Amino acid sequence: MSYPVTYYCPHCGAVVEIEREGYLADKSVTPYPLEGWTYADPHDSANASYESVDGIRFVCGEMPPESGVGQTETGIRWTGDQSNADDVENPTMTSPCDRTFYLSFVRFENGNEIEPQPDTDQVRIASDTAGPSKPNGPTSPDGPGGFRR
Ligand SMILES: [Zn+2]
Repeated sequence: MSYPVTYYCPHCGAVVEIEREGYLADKSVTPYPLEGWTYADPHDSANASYESVDGIRFVCGEMPPESGVGQTETGIRWTGDQSNADDVENPTMTSPCDRTFYLSFVRFENGNEIEPQPDTDQVRIASDTAGPSKPNGPTSPDGPGGFRR
């Protein structure tokens, strides 16, 4: 059975309530998609149960389109509240802020929980260097020959 769960926008703190299945476990709410996760539009009633996706892509404050499908049927409701949690990026910005954020469920593969790839900042740094796995730390003074590409 489904029941209402609330989340908040990591940008501005706008609180959203959705109806979802109780067996799904939350992993995180992030301002960017996790690598390898598949996200559903919360307004797509075909995905209302979220059974075949790994997460939900929200647009902060976005209401369902006027197509005869009510909020109660799509299971999403912006409560009008604003979270004052410490990790809200900009609690003083206009809310809702129309920016995108992502709710990710816990994923399992062969019984093990899948960890997401590093966040987008680290991915960008890695792709800018010649060695994709080279750490971005300081050069070790006692490295072998100090050779770096
Ligand atoms: Zn927002």
